[in-house]
Amino acid sequence: MRGKLGVELRTPEDAADAAVLVRLSGVLDEDNQLAEATSKLYEALVVVDCAGVRRINSCGVRDWVDWVGEMESRGNRLVLVACSSHIVDQVNMVHNFCGQGKIRSVQAPYYCRPCDHEATVLIALAEVPAPADMRPTCARCGGAMALDHIPEQYFAFLQDGRSVLTDAATERLVAAAVPETAERIRALDGGGRSPSEPTRPVTPTPTSDDVEAAPEGVTRAVASGEMQPSAPDSGGGGQVVSPVLTVVLVAAMVVVISLMLFLVFEA
Ligand SMILES: [Zn+2]
Repeated sequence: MRGKLGVELRTPEDAADAAVLVRLSGVLDEDNQLAEATSKLYEALVVVDCAGVRRINSCGVRDWVDWVGEMESRGNRLVLVACSSHIVDQVNMVHNFCGQGKIRSVQAPYYCRPCDHEATVLIALAEVPAPADMRPTCARCGGAMALDHIPEQYFAFLQDGRSVLTDAATERLVAAAVPETAERIRALDGGGRSPSEPTRPVTPTPTSDDVEAAPEGVTRAVASGEMQPSAPDSGGGGQVVSPVLTVVLVAAMVVVISLMLFLVFEA
């Protein structure tokens, strides 16, 4: 078996202007076929689904940067979607990691300390004005989860203001190439709307505990969209009491009332 990086290429059947999907999974190291698998792409809009990239080593980074340069020299435009945290780390550290390419969405790992719950949230960057302030609601306890990184560092790549895909026409082509992402965002958003249309500020999509299983995890999140988005600027207003807390409070009241009745009757 050659290579630890899975490279799945999906070219559109017709429509010359449609996007090509390159879906990556596994480990990006010196033993990759990224360049070979995509050597026939010229002047294409190439959507690179990075959801499944689990690790990158320094040789992988070098190959990636070379690959981006070669792709762009052949007139291709790159859009990265569902970037795993490993890709986000490189985007932040390596100058020119994306070349002239744009990033449409990233995964972000969140953690709830009180109940030790982890969740990966897919963030559509064009729709979330301040991802660093995002506090998704924990599916387990209803509390606010915190990013499992330093937010200003994790989202540092946003500061240059040119990494995010904002062009509506390109966005429509990208959404068509990754329909499940569009479907998921629509589902969370109450249905019907295209992700390119203005939407509510936050559309987090948590997966379950297994953060590593990113491609499947991201898809699974479509079915289990039980975690509700929380507005980053909610200053304590409109807080929802979690079911667990309610049960505990009711149980405590029952105990107190029983104790009082006991004391009354004893006296
Ligand atoms: Zn929790």
